Amino acid sequence: MLSYSTQLIEDDDIEAVIETLKSNLLAQGPKVLEFEAALCKYTGAKYAVAFNSATSALSGAYHACGVEKDDEIITSAISFVSTSNMFVDLGAIPVWCDIKPDGNIDENKIEKLITPKTKAIVPIHFAGKPVDLQAIYKIAKKHKLLVIEDAAHALSSSLNNKKIGSFSDMTIFSFHAIKPITTSEGGAVLTNNKEYANRLKLFRSHGIVKKKLWNSDMISMGYNYRLTEIAAALGISQLKKLDKFIEKRNKIASYFDERFKNEKLFLAQKIEPHQISSRHLYPIILNPELHSFKETIFTELQKRGLGVQVHYKPIYQNSFYKEKFGEVSLPLTDKFYNAEISIPCNQTMSMQDAAFVADTFLDVIHKYLPRKSSV
Ligand SMILES: *Cc1c(COP(=O)(O)O)cnc(C)c1O
Repeated sequence: MLSYSTQLIEDDDIEAVIETLKSNLLAQGPKVLEFEAALCKYTGAKYAVAFNSATSALSGAYHACGVEKDDEIITSAISFVSTSNMFVDLGAIPVWCDIKPDGNIDENKIEKLITPKTKAIVPIHFAGKPVDLQAIYKIAKKHKLLVIEDAAHALSSSLNNKKIGSFSDMTIFSFHAIKPITTSEGGAVLTNNKEYANRLKLFRSHGIVKKKLWNSDMISMGYNYRLTEIAAALGISQLKKLDKFIEKRNKIASYFDERFKNEKLFLAQKIEPHQISSRHLYPIILNPELHSFKETIFTELQKRGLGVQVHYKPIYQNSFYKEKFGEVSLPLTDKFYNAEISIPCNQTMSMQDAAFVADTFLDVIHKYLPRKSSV
C-alpha cells in the first residue's frame, strides 16, 4: 500500500541514532541544542525550542504568550485537533473562521470575527501550502493580536523566498513519523522573541532554573516535554536531507498537476509562483456531484493499493467540541470535508509509483461519474 505520507529512514539516520545510544547522555545533552541550532539555520528564525511533540509545542506556545480563560482564538477547523485542543485546555475559546477552496484560512473573513477578547490568530499551512501571512500580519498588527502558526505540515515551505518559521511570533513544527522530517515523535516552536524562547524552555522542563552548584529554583509551572537525545540525533540527520525529500515530493506533485490539469471532476491544490509547498499532502477536491460517492471511491482506492486519507473532519464536528461549544457549521469548511481526499505523495515513491497512483485514481474517479439518465 502506498501511503499518503510516510517517513524515509536511511543508513545514515540509523548510524546517527546508534552513535547517540552509545554516548553517555541520552537526555538533556548536546544533540537537542545542535538540532535547535540547525532548525534556526534552516528556517532563519532566531530561536528554536524542541519539544517531544507538536502538541506539547503548541501547549508551550499558548502558555508562553499568556493565553488564558475566555480569550478568543481565531483559527480554522480543517486541522488536526491538537491545534485548538491545547488552547481550549487553557480555557480559551475557538472562534472558527471559514476557509478558502484550498483549505487555508480565509484572511478576508478574519477581521469581522475580532472582538475585545480576541487574543491570537492561529493559521494552519494546510498540506504545506503557506497561508497569506502578509494579510494576516497586517490584521494582527492593526488589532494588536498575536500570530501563532501551526506549521506541522510546512517545514521547508516558503513565501516570497522566506521560509515558514521565520515570520511569526511563534511557529510550530511537527516531527511525527509522517511529517516532512521525523524524530519519530517530536516538535518545536520557532520564534524571534527571546522572552518567549525563555518561557518555552521553562515550560518544557519543570519551570526550573539552575542556580549555583546543586541549587536550582522552580520559578514557574512546567512539565517534562523534552525531546530525547536519540530523537534529536535522528532529527539532525533527517534535516540534512529535507531539501532532497521536498524536491522529490514536488516532482511527484508536479507530475500529478500535469496529469490532472484537464480533469473536470476534481481540483488539486494550486501552489502560486511566490509560494513553495512542502507538499506534505496532495489534496484532491472532488466536485459536488461526486460527494455522495466519496465513501465508495475511498474504499475502492484503498482496495487498489492507494493509502488515501481525508484531511480533516472539521474540528468543530468532534463530539467534545459539539458538547462544549455547541453545533457549528461553516459552508466552505463543511464542503471541503465532503470533497477532500489526500492521495499518496511522499519521498519514498518512484515516478512509476506516481504513474500508478494517477492511473488508478483517474480510473476509479471516472467509474463513479454520475450517470446522466438516458433520454
Ligand atoms: C500532526 C499535526 C499536529 C500534531 O503533531 P504531533 O507532533 O503529532 O503532536 C498538529 N497540527 C497539525 C496540523 C498536524 O498535522
